[in-house]
Amino acid sequence: MSKPVSMASQPLITIIVPCHNEAAGLPELHQVLAAALATLPYQFEILMIDDGSTDETVAIAHRLARHDLRIQVIELSRNFGKEVAITAGLHRAQGEAAIMIDADLQHPPRLIAQFLAAWQEGAEVVVGVRARSNRHAGWLKRTTSHLFYRFINLIAEQVVTPGATDFRLLDRVVIDEFNRFTERNRMTRGLIDWLGFRRAEITFMPGQRHAGRASYGWNKLFTLAMHSVISLSLFPLKLAGYLGVIITSISLPLGIFMYVEKYLLDDPWKMNFTGTAQLAVLLVFMVGMVLASLGLMSLYIGAIHAEVTNRPLYVLRRARRLESHRREPSA
Ligand code: UDP
Ligand code: MG
Repeated sequence: MSKPVSMASQPLITIIVPCHNEAAGLPELHQVLAAALATLPYQFEILMIDDGSTDETVAIAHRLARHDLRIQVIELSRNFGKEVAITAGLHRAQGEAAIMIDADLQHPPRLIAQFLAAWQEGAEVVVGVRARSNRHAGWLKRTTSHLFYRFINLIAEQVVTPGATDFRLLDRVVIDEFNRFTERNRMTRGLIDWLGFRRAEITFMPGQRHAGRASYGWNKLFTLAMHSVISLSLFPLKLAGYLGVIITSISLPLGIFMYVEKYLLDDPWKMNFTGTAQLAVLLVFMVGMVLASLGLMSLYIGAIHAEVTNRPLYVLRRARRLESHRREPSA
């Protein structure tokens, strides 16, 4: 199959940059990014997704776009959060692969070459993984993030790599599958991991945020963590159920024992259970029953949740796609 040797035969790659109040750093990001892309034998489109910034981000993005025709500025009407901003980018990506990268240079653009190399070798998802010693984050953030991953791996149905970031490359097949998701509370990383596909990981040292402030405060991080827990598992609900089962299975025999010992056998062991004790056991038993029913409800809610999120039953890797991007980049 001979393709015409021209610029057009270079695969198009989409770069997705979610921007929320990044006015201070955007020009530098563009400079570093453009330098990194210049050496690569691909065509690029750069989608700058403005996520309802309240500073000059949009104006600056438009100014950059006038000089660099690869840039498209996509403005969301208000702040929807990074997960949604990335989704908006993926919906509009035209490329044979898309790379999402933070606007604050914490995801070094020079790694894009490695991402693309891994893609050429057949990876369909390439994940940037933060090197372990994340010395720029405070110990509190490090510890909570560590605990979070321990916890989520304990309860989630799929493995979540610690340190895996949103700095990712997705093949066209993965983008198309991702765009079929309809669920609303989303954590992009989790959804991509759920999709599967051949995966490669590239470890990197995150840089320091070079300008502006991190938009992800504790508040947002907590919400994101909650969403991931909820969307990955029903563990919290089931926990109530287990607790209920344990409480019932202790208080029921205890209650029966009290009753038999006191009323049927006429207190042979002189235990002298008071009315209060009997009442207490009865109460605890009832609470156990309520919790156990909550757990039972979690099974129903789980079934409803699965229907409502409406995830595809399975995901196909189309055979046709496998060879398409493996062409030698033409000179
Ligand atoms: N971001 C966004 N919407 C938001 C918050 C952040 O698009 O509501 C973008 C932000 O501009 C940056 C990326 O998401 O490009 C990562 O944000 P940030 O640096 O604040 O988070 P962190 O580095 O702590 O993950
Ligand atoms: Mg950042």
